[in-house]
Amino acid sequence: MSPINIAIVGVGKIVRDQHLPALAKNADYRLIAAASRHGTVDGIDNFKSIEAMIDAVPAVEAVSLCMPPQYRYEAARTALAAGKHVFLEKPPGATLSEVADLEALAEEKGVSLFASWHSRYAPAVEAAKTFLASAAIRNVRIIWKEDVRHWHPNQEWIWAAGGLGVFDPGINALSIMTHILPRPVFITSATLEFPENRDAPIAATIAFSDAEKLDVAAEFDWRQTGKQSWDIVAETDAGGMVLSEGGAKLAIDGKIVHEEPEQEYPMLYRRFAEIIKAGRSDVDLAPLRHVADAFMLGRRKFVEAFHD
Ligand code: NAP
Repeated sequence: MSPINIAIVGVGKIVRDQHLPALAKNADYRLIAAASRHGTVDGIDNFKSIEAMIDAVPAVEAVSLCMPPQYRYEAARTALAAGKHVFLEKPPGATLSEVADLEALAEEKGVSLFASWHSRYAPAVEAAKTFLASAAIRNVRIIWKEDVRHWHPNQEWIWAAGGLGVFDPGINALSIMTHILPRPVFITSATLEFPENRDAPIAATIAFSDAEKLDVAAEFDWRQTGKQSWDIVAETDAGGMVLSEGGAKLAIDGKIVHEEPEQEYPMLYRRFAEIIKAGRSDVDLAPLRHVADAFMLGRRKFVEAFHD
C-alpha cells in the first residue's frame, strides 16, 4: 500500500516534541502539508488555515489535529466533511456531545476518526492490565502531581473553560485507569480546586467505585515542585502493584517486572494507520466522561490565584 498523505494542524509544542519525530520514522505516512496560524513545519507546504490547506492540497488523505481541545471541533468537521481521516490529540474535544457528533460524521463519510490517548501506549500499561486481570483488587490509588509552570508555561488555553486545567494531565491517568481496570468504575465524589482568577481547576481529589464497592481514588495536583508523580498503585491479593513514571515502569511487591523506553507516539501512529486500513474508527470516550462527571458532581473550592 502506498503511504498515507497526512497533514498536521495546530503546530505547537506537542507537534514538535512528538508528532513530527514519530511521522518521520513511520513509512506508512508521507507528511505533505501543515496548517497553523503562526507555526510552520520545514520542508512542506504550510497554510494559515485547514480550509485553505484542504482547498490547495486535495492529495491530503488524513489530518492530525493538535490545537487545544476548545478549537478542535470545527477543524475536525471540516476535515471529515472533506473525506479526510482524522487523528484527534487528547482530550478528543471540549465536550462529549461534540465528539459524538464527529463520530457520526466519520461514519457517514466512511472515514476513520481516532481519539488518541497517548498514555495508554506507555510501555508497562499492558503488563499492568494483565496483572490486574488475574488479581483480586483491594484498592487503587492514582497520584498525578506535576509542576504546571514547568510543563505548561504561558499556555492560557489550559486555564480557560474547556481547557480542563489539571485534568489535562489527569485525563492521561484516567485513560490508563479505564484501560487497565478489569471493570468500569464511576465517580462517587470529587473536590475541584479552582484558583480564584481561573476557569479551570489546579487540583482535584476524586473517589470512584462500582457495584462491588471497589475503592479507587485519584489525586491530581499542578502545584507539585521537586519530584513529579505519575503513579497508579494497587493493593491486590497477588501483591502490591506500582505503575510509575506515567505508565513506563511496573513493579510488583517492589520488584521491577517491566521497564522499557517509551514509544507512545510511534504506537499511536501505528494504530491510526491500522484503523485507516481496516476502515474503522477508534473513539473511546470513557476518560473524557469521567472528567465531565467530575465537573458535574465535584464540589468547587476556590484557592489562591495562580500567576505564571
Ligand atoms: P500549544 O503548543 O499551546 O498549542 C498547539 C498549537 O495550537 C499552537 O501552537 C497554536 O498554533 C494552535 N492554537 C492555539 N490556540 C489556538 C486557537 N485559539 N485556535 C486555533 N489554533 C490554536 O499546545 P500543545 O502543548 O501542543 O497541546 C496541544 C494538544 O496536545 C492539547 O490538547 C494537549 O492536551 C495535547 N498534548 C500536549 C502534550 C504536551 O506535552 N504539551 C502532550 C500530549 C498531548 P498557531 O498559533 O500556529 O495556530
